[in-house]
Amino acid sequence: MAKKVVIVGGVAGGASCAARLRRLDEAAQIVMLEKGPYISFANCGLPYHVGGVIERRDRLLLQTPESFRERFNVDVRVDSEVISIDRQNKSVTVRHGGTEYQESYDVLVLSPGSIPVVPDLPGADSPRVMTLWNIPDMDRIIAVIKDGGARTAVVAGGGFIGLEMAENLKRAGLSVTLVEMLDQVMPSLDFEMAQILHKHLADNGIKLALGERVKRFEETGGGVTVVTDKRAVTADIVLLAVGVKPNSELAKACGLEIGARGGIVVDEYLRTSDENIYAVGDAVETENYLTRERAVIPLAGPANKMGRMAADNICGMNRRYKGTQGASVVKVFDMTAAFTGLNERQLTALGKKLNVDYKVTVIHPLSHAGYYPGGMPMSIKLLFAKQDGKVLGVQALGYKGVEKRVDVVATAIRFGATVYDLEELELCYAPPYSSAKDPVNIAGFAAENILSGLVDNITFSELKDLPADTVLLDVRTPTEVKMGAIPGSVNIPVDSLRGRLGELDKSKAYVVYCAVGVRAHIAARILLQNGFERVRNLAGGYTTYRIASRDYTSPPE
Ligand SMILES: Cc1cc2nc3c(=O)[nH]c(=O)nc-3n(C[C@H](O)[C@H](O)[C@H](O)COP(=O)(O)OP(=O)(O)OC[C@H]3O[C@@H](n4cnc5c(N)ncnc54)[C@H](O)[C@@H]3O)c2cc1C
Repeated sequence: MAKKVVIVGGVAGGASCAARLRRLDEAAQIVMLEKGPYISFANCGLPYHVGGVIERRDRLLLQTPESFRERFNVDVRVDSEVISIDRQNKSVTVRHGGTEYQESYDVLVLSPGSIPVVPDLPGADSPRVMTLWNIPDMDRIIAVIKDGGARTAVVAGGGFIGLEMAENLKRAGLSVTLVEMLDQVMPSLDFEMAQILHKHLADNGIKLALGERVKRFEETGGGVTVVTDKRAVTADIVLLAVGVKPNSELAKACGLEIGARGGIVVDEYLRTSDENIYAVGDAVETENYLTRERAVIPLAGPANKMGRMAADNICGMNRRYKGTQGASVVKVFDMTAAFTGLNERQLTALGKKLNVDYKVTVIHPLSHAGYYPGGMPMSIKLLFAKQDGKVLGVQALGYKGVEKRVDVVATAIRFGATVYDLEELELCYAPPYSSAKDPVNIAGFAAENILSGLVDNITFSELKDLPADTVLLDVRTPTEVKMGAIPGSVNIPVDSLRGRLGELDKSKAYVVYCAVGVRAHIAARILLQNGFERVRNLAGGYTTYRIASRDYTSPPE
């Protein structure tokens, strides 16, 4: 007899699962239950309709219940919330309008997504304090802007959605203040890389309140005052984007195993602790691909792939989900920030447990050959294992070709590559697109220089703990130095260094820097081959220092 598969949730994971199931099994009975009024909508596109970049609302509706039914012969039911699961009798209770009914299943797939976190703070229930997770949320926000004439906004939270909304609220004509509890936005980035985004946000008119914790929201006239531990900002609309949590209550209530991070526990075949129930997407705890630790990583790519894979496994294909590595990208005005793998914070926290000692390199290449017009600067931070050069993570920011470089490294990580492999990768090249040595190759060369012992480096964050006898040696030209330098540094341009070695004390430690690290590498090699023993190159050079050492927080008004 044809099996009956009931799917809870009709967007990324749920709809992918339903479509794949049908393609694999024309006979299966498939019922897709969606609590909201829409299925298969583009969650990731919502901020861009608020900002008017995606002009037509209907472009966000990738499938309607009717089109999905027609193409895939799936029994799609919207406004249908599953309120309980009876595992013994293999049925779910569905609430639709004022009625409730039971729906039986042979196999159940849970893809209920995640829930935006609303902190338990006074005033958080004000109608002007909003979250963005689905089309009705977006419609409410647009109504406040258009019909309510909102002019000012506070975005609380500097993750993906917070940043995308800050940009799009600004595009919609609002004055925006971004409040973030941490001292940086985008926690996947390390601080000095996040500072590039801070500068860009500030340059684009976003007021930043970093390192500030929201204490309460107070309704004031038609608006809301957001009170932090450092300031009070009144706005017409507050967008809360302080994180999400797995929507696992339904699973928990029927006794499925829930992990320490609140996600539904699944095995590598995406089966829950009940062999007749699969779970996919934001609601599950999978493994971090690199650490093998359990992790909740709410992203659309993994959700879609898991949905497809669950369908494969329901059809007996035994496909293993190998973990999520968190490859992601965000557009912030005309800048792109992308990353994958582990950052320094994670490596510091997990390094001992994983028995990994890591190193980093920071480079600032151009997106393509300098002689071809339109090349744009980018910053890449590569993290790799000291022991064997295994690539552990990458963070990149810039204006062109950023995500392409991160995707290359993401692929390299998937296949267990080392920095030596990055050096050798043959990537497509012509001047309008790249350089004969692609930025990914250059990151590999820089890492190899460190691992082979040619020149060690020091990161921006390590500068604060320098040995007392350290000399900061700036090897840029005097003209460059006039534009700014690290306080207390000594300037000897690289091209005159050989002739001026006598001015330097060999017994001292040296941190050598130039604009980006290339001339400093040459200078460090000169020093090391002339009897200087403690010489390190500043990762990312003065470019990283200049951006990372500033404070971009707006003063309270
Ligand atoms: C504004 C925004 C921007 C985003 N941008 C990106 C991005 O750029 N890149 C990226 O990788 N990810 C992005 N994401 C995250 C991405 O959308 C999610 O990771 C992905 O949609 C998760 O898929 P899912 O199937 O687990 O859950 P969802 O796609 O959220 O679908 C879950 C569905 O289940 C329904 N549901 C829940 N409980 C029940 C129930 N009891 N009964 C019936 N139905 C139920 C919900 O109504 C919901 O429609 C973004 C998300 C948002 C909101």
